[in-house]
Amino acid sequence: MLAEIRSLNEECGVFGIWGHANAAQLTYYGLHALQHRGQEGAGIVSTDKASLQALKGEGMVSEVFSPEKIEKIAGTGAIGHVRYATAGGSGIENVQPLLFNSTTGSLAISHNGNLVNANHLKSHLERQGSIFQTTSDTEVLAHLIKRSGYATFEEQAKNALSLLKGAFACVILKEEAMYIALDPNGLRPLSLGKLGDAWVVASETCAFDIIGAEFVRSVEPGEFLVITDDGLRAERFAYPAERSICTMEYVYFSRPDSDIDGINVHAARKRLGKQLAREIQIDADVVTGVPDSSISAAIGFSEESGIPYELGLIKNRYVGRTFIQPSQDLREQGVKMKLSPVRQVVKGKRVIMVDDSIVRGTTSRRIVNLLKEAGATEVHVVISSPPIKSPCFYGIDISTSGELIAANNTIEEMREIIGADSLTFLSVDGMVQNIGRTDPGSKCGHCLGCFTGEYPTNIYPDTVLPHEKEKVK
Ligand code: SF4
Repeated sequence: MLAEIRSLNEECGVFGIWGHANAAQLTYYGLHALQHRGQEGAGIVSTDKASLQALKGEGMVSEVFSPEKIEKIAGTGAIGHVRYATAGGSGIENVQPLLFNSTTGSLAISHNGNLVNANHLKSHLERQGSIFQTTSDTEVLAHLIKRSGYATFEEQAKNALSLLKGAFACVILKEEAMYIALDPNGLRPLSLGKLGDAWVVASETCAFDIIGAEFVRSVEPGEFLVITDDGLRAERFAYPAERSICTMEYVYFSRPDSDIDGINVHAARKRLGKQLAREIQIDADVVTGVPDSSISAAIGFSEESGIPYELGLIKNRYVGRTFIQPSQDLREQGVKMKLSPVRQVVKGKRVIMVDDSIVRGTTSRRIVNLLKEAGATEVHVVISSPPIKSPCFYGIDISTSGELIAANNTIEEMREIIGADSLTFLSVDGMVQNIGRTDPGSKCGHCLGCFTGEYPTNIYPDTVLPHEKEKVK
């Protein structure tokens, strides 16, 4: 799926390293591997044990940093962040890590996820005199830490973290230590690794591979890890709740070469494609996947169904951030700039087009149209996840129910809207059983909120969806 032309985006990626002479440089490489999780802003904060130095800006990792700039923030510990900016929530002040200076020392925070009680906490803090400089949930954590009244930083941080509800994978840097925390449901992935004697943490394991670090283990829900020059100490700020990792991490967001809790993302997607082929029977000549995230599921579908896999769609990799978005009357052009059908593959063929999800349906309609224009006689759309019927409150920019095609139409109506010859979704059970998690319970440790409307945490009345944050500025 092409995130940039569909309203479905990850909020961020986090990275941290402690105990390496090239901490900032390695963070740069780590952020590069996490670039798919956010392209609107990037930042690194490092420590030389005496003070924290920050470097951040709007844009892609390669645009924000240069070797000369990174040289200036040399240190042995660093944390980083890539950010997907929500509408209205963009601007340099929201680019992370957020850095806070005070007479008792500095503090930097990288956060992935969305809090469901941020508004409630903000109002409470404002009544106590806090003034917020950003629209980011992350600042709430900093204020809670500062106001907690406990004697040590560790106690302050644990107390503050215990007040947060929702999704948060956090890496916190102080002059003399790095701290790591994951929400009690473990909604977002967070992995711990080692590079020689240095400790590394990242949203995805692909960030370890790029720097040659080894995966050690996943950070556990409710855990609070303290890393200093004396080593790692594992503590807790909360008891773990029912594990509810975001299913869309497996289906779409994470890179295929990443492993989440020991399960390779590419292999999980292949199994979803195979299950889809077991759930339906379609006569067709060729299977193709919408690049990049649907290729694995398309291969799985092909293997199980025996229908040959072909490269029917090519992604144009050189459409950058600065690509001029087409005006309304040229919007079909937008898809053509980013995706091309391989005419020789699809002409005169009955095509099964595998995609990982449908949000609004507009992109699916355009891709079906592209394939038909290129001569496909039939286009059967098969989706390797169930219909998305509800918004996400945990940091994924999934539109409000009003904009979700599956929330307002039957599958037959959706098929008609996108112009496909047939439309099939994977079942919820088929998805959950085939990703490969073995956590106890019928959900096998997954959050299924956007598919079923049943969320793993309370959703507070004033919860703000990630893309609506500008309204509470
Ligand atoms: S609601 Fe959907 S997108 Fe959001 S965390 Fe849950 S599974 Fe992921």
